[in-house]
Amino acid sequence: MADNRIYNFSAGPSMLPVPVLERAASEMLNCKGSGMSVMEMSHRSKVYDGIIKETEAAMRRVLSIPDNYKVLFLQGGATTQFAAVPMNLMKSGKADYAVTGNFANLAYKEALKFGDIHVAFSSKEGNFDRVPTQAELDIRSDADYFYICANNTIYGTEFHYDPEAPAGVPVVADMSSNILSKPVDVSKYGVIYAGAQKNMGPAGVTVVIVREDLLGAYPTEKYPTILDWKLMAEKDSMYNTPPTYGIYILGLVLAWVEEMGGVTAMQKLAEKRAGMLYDYLDSQDFYQAVAETESRSNMNVTFRTGDEELDAKFAKETAALGMSNLKGHRSVGGMRASIYNAMPVEGVETLIAFMKKFAEENQK
Ligand SMILES: *Cc1c(COP(=O)(O)O)cnc(C)c1O
Repeated sequence: MADNRIYNFSAGPSMLPVPVLERAASEMLNCKGSGMSVMEMSHRSKVYDGIIKETEAAMRRVLSIPDNYKVLFLQGGATTQFAAVPMNLMKSGKADYAVTGNFANLAYKEALKFGDIHVAFSSKEGNFDRVPTQAELDIRSDADYFYICANNTIYGTEFHYDPEAPAGVPVVADMSSNILSKPVDVSKYGVIYAGAQKNMGPAGVTVVIVREDLLGAYPTEKYPTILDWKLMAEKDSMYNTPPTYGIYILGLVLAWVEEMGGVTAMQKLAEKRAGMLYDYLDSQDFYQAVAETESRSNMNVTFRTGDEELDAKFAKETAALGMSNLKGHRSVGGMRASIYNAMPVEGVETLIAFMKKFAEENQK
C-alpha cells in the first residue's frame, strides 16, 4: 500500500485500486500524447473516442455482456435511474418490486408516480435483515418488469441467486454495490444498472446495461429527452457531454479487474474477505451480525455490539488507527465494513485483529 493510505471502509464513494490512481496520476497532465488531461479533452476528440470505446469493450468482456444488450454511460447517479426505469419500461403501467432495503424502497416510491406498483416481497418488518427466496416472490405475470436491488448496501444483504420472473417479465437489477464483484449471467436480466462510486470508479457515471428489445417504450413527447435510454443508445451515450473523466477511470478500473483475473478472481477475493469477517463474527458473542445468514452480503458486512456507546467507541478508535468509515448507517446503527474489490485482504485482517482486541478490552 502506498504511504499514508488508510483502509477506507466507506460504503461509497469508496476505495479505488492504487494502480488505477497511480496510472491516472501519471496521465493527469498529458494523456496518451494529447498534451492535456482527460478532463480538458473534447468528448468528440479522437483520443476520447478511443477511451470511451475501450471502456465499453472492457465492460462487455469483463461481464460477458451479450451482443443484444446496449451499454450506456449516463449521469445523475443510480437515483436518476429509479425514475428512468419506469419511464423507459412501462407499457401497460404495471411493475412489481422486491422491497429489501433503503434504495429498493426509494426506487419503489419513485415508481409509484408512474403506475400501478405491486410489492412482490418486503423485508421491512425485520428491518430489512434478509432478501427473499425465489418461492417467496409474488410477481404478477402481466407486470412490465420485476425490480430488485441486488445488494442492499445499508443493511448488508445480497441476492446470491438470479431471481426469476414469469415468462416475458424482464428482471431489472440495481447492482450499484456489487457489480464487478462476481460473474453475472446478464442474459437473465432485462436491465442491470449501477452507479460507479461503490465498486467501479468515481461518482458521476452510471452504467446501464439494457436488452435491445426493451428499448422504445419511452414516451419521448411527454418525458425529458435526457432520460430516454433508446436515444442514449443511438447516440453512443453522447447525446450530450458524458461524464468523461468518470468513464476514463472506469476504463482503468476494468483494465485492473482484467489484470487481476476478471470477475471470477474478484469473487474469490470477495468471498475470502467477507468469509474472514463472518467466520470471526460467528465464533464469538461480543458482536452480533445484523443480516440473516443466507442473505449476508459479500460487500457490506453489518454488525453491532448491542450497546450504542460501545459502537460509537468502536468507530472512533478504528478511525484513529486508519480504518475509516466503520460507523453503520443511521437506519441500522452499529458498524458496517464495506469491503469492495479495492479493499486489500490485509485491511480485513487489520480490522479483525482490532475487533478481537476491542472485545477483550470492553467485555460486557
Ligand atoms: C449508493 C446506492 C444508490 C444511490 O446511488 P447514487 O449514485 O447516490 O444515486 C442506489 N442503489 C444502491 C444499491 C446504492 O448502493
